Amino acid sequence: MSTNIRTKPIESFKIVGFTCDKCKNDFTQEYSGTETQEMLRWLHVGGHDSVIGDGNFIDITICQNCWWELFKDFVEIKLYGFDSETGEA
Ligand SMILES: [Zn+2]
Repeated sequence: MSTNIRTKPIESFKIVGFTCDKCKNDFTQEYSGTETQEMLRWLHVGGHDSVIGDGNFIDITICQNCWWELFKDFVEIKLYGFDSETGEA
């Protein structure tokens, strides 16, 4: 282990539920742990020439079914444990 790493204790949070910004369904960890693991949250600050405006802020949370519906035509799924270049495990 490297000895030049400095650490400090931090407070952490666990996501226990969310409301999808697209379908407006409410997902809680108690009833759907998978949904809280598979949701997509995008936080972004627009830079110079950004379509959202320089310095403006995006905060969006969408469930897995909604992000899949939106992005499925552009997503490249890579099989877990396989090298995408060689196809070998
Ligand atoms: Zn949704």
